[in-house]
Amino acid sequence: MKFSRILAAAAFAVALPFSCVSHAQEADNLPNFVSVLPQIKAKTLPVDPQKGYLVKEVRPGVYVITDGMYQSAFMTTGKGVILFDAPPSFGGHIISAVAEVTSEPIVELVYSHVHVDHIGSADLILKQFPHLKIVAEEGTAEFLREMKDPHRPMPNRIFKDHLSLKLGSATAELKVGHWHSPEGDLFIYLPGKKFLMAIDTLAAGSVPFMGFDLTMNMHDYMKVFDQILAYDFDVLVAGHLTYLADRNDVQVTKDYVTDVYTTVKRIHDTANQMDIMSKAAQKYTWDNKFAVFRTVLDEVTEQCAKEIQGRWINKLDGVDVFVTSHCSTALVYARWDD
Ligand SMILES: [Zn+2]
Repeated sequence: MKFSRILAAAAFAVALPFSCVSHAQEADNLPNFVSVLPQIKAKTLPVDPQKGYLVKEVRPGVYVITDGMYQSAFMTTGKGVILFDAPPSFGGHIISAVAEVTSEPIVELVYSHVHVDHIGSADLILKQFPHLKIVAEEGTAEFLREMKDPHRPMPNRIFKDHLSLKLGSATAELKVGHWHSPEGDLFIYLPGKKFLMAIDTLAAGSVPFMGFDLTMNMHDYMKVFDQILAYDFDVLVAGHLTYLADRNDVQVTKDYVTDVYTTVKRIHDTANQMDIMSKAAQKYTWDNKFAVFRTVLDEVTEQCAKEIQGRWINKLDGVDVFVTSHCSTALVYARWDD
């Protein structure tokens, strides 16, 4: 061990007890959230923390890679592997994960959407496989052309609306949707395999991520669950967290989203907004219009969050973490779009 490293290690060892104390104090100030539900914990995919990822065959020749936070997938075709997404969270392991189960090279990479957290390790795949075909729909390609991000190389097979991607014995049906990213999302369906990918729609066992999975299009997000259920599938890769979704997970998430929306709409439509604002104006004066109006939004959101939490806290994980953001996103839709 070099001297500088010993010094650094010693400094770390001395600093540790103090930093632990201050971290503990800081942690005390964090909000309280309920623990992960036992029925969800029991279904968690067994990712080896030393290895950093799990590769699992979910259908003959169809595999999922996950680190417990992110999910991507690939399939063998007899003529090379088609990879769906390259998330940086386990980007350095993708090539070995594929090599663990097949000797076929990666020949195609499909981008589910533009977001860097799902495709930001595409450059590593391209570096190893320079003849790689990168497939994306045109909105995604357009955005990446502008971004010039070396980690998200430009697609070289661009399509509009839908594409039957055929290679060897396999077909992937790619269909554009707009539930999440404004540029475009993809349904990735493997007919005959009962396998579907629809990234950033839901997280099995949990509520959707903040703001209904950061949707930029609440109108289409509300429709995506029926679109998913119209496919003949029993494994859904939705991109995140602890296990893979099935049809029931889709239905439960749809019920949750619908409940949030109808609840916030009812509370908003029946609230005495003038009464709420009049009270607020006593403090802020009517001149401060943003402050006065904000009290309406806050009150509707808070009431919605309270109701939803009461109904869902024992059914899904993360309700208390993200319910306020869900009510807020649904309120924007209910008030300004609906
Ligand atoms: Zn995304």
